[in-house]
Amino acid sequence: MSAQALLQIRDLKVAYGGIQAVKGVSLEVHSGELVALIGANGAGKTSSLKAITGLLPWRDGEAHYAGQSIRGLAPHQMVARGLAMVPEGRGVFTRMSIVENLLMGAYTRKDGTDSVQADIDRMFGIFPRLKERASQLAGTLSGGEQQMLAMARALMGHPKLLLLDEPSMGLSPIMVEKIFEVVRSVHAQGTTILLVEQNARLALESASRAYVMESGQITMSGNARQMLDDPRVRAAYLGEEAAA
Ligand code: ATP
Repeated sequence: MSAQALLQIRDLKVAYGGIQAVKGVSLEVHSGELVALIGANGAGKTSSLKAITGLLPWRDGEAHYAGQSIRGLAPHQMVARGLAMVPEGRGVFTRMSIVENLLMGAYTRKDGTDSVQADIDRMFGIFPRLKERASQLAGTLSGGEQQMLAMARALMGHPKLLLLDEPSMGLSPIMVEKIFEVVRSVHAQGTTILLVEQNARLALESASRAYVMESGQITMSGNARQMLDDPRVRAAYLGEEAAA
């Protein structure tokens, strides 16, 4: 095992009844990295993230975070250790306002209300659109606004590792650009990120390293830039003709 891995997954298996969705996935995320996990619909990306964060039971495998085993921990125990997930489909509290959602994201923190308020202001700086709608119920926000809120809520807990599941899903091209700008800037400010994305081009352009997942298995891994130039990746995930 490599000494600095913040998150290390070994041979993760997840099944729904008799159907194996994740068939022995191993991956590592090091402190300071932005790692992308790309792959087609149904490849098992979401199932992998859900198992890592304790939302789905494991069939087999091992998970270490900051050197400690985390397999079998509940989601709130993960959050308390600094590992936060922004789920696909956002998962905001629809009947709470934006500010109430942000406060929920700070519930594990032990510092005072002043610093929580300072962070709310910081989130409003990153996402001015949320500021304009601070008291609006989250359920009435647009999809893109809910995505911003979900990310802001996760950041309120000062995660060390942020797991993002398809942040671009269902968003307009401008909103996708905006969300990726935020992902890159959160990363640049020191948060380690594991990013699951269908938008392979943007994911590979943003990431330092990447894994490709197909039918429940990792089939390629390496430097994200090199993968952008890889003919197999270009043909399968970037919509380009395969090289002869
Ligand atoms: P997408 O990009 O479409 O979200 P994904 O790579 O995240 O795909 P998963 O959502 O992990 O893929 O799904 C992996 C496989 O597991 C798929 O074949 C899916 O149909 C199946 N699956 C997911 N959730 C369930 C469930 N609750 N019950 C049964 N099968 C499921």
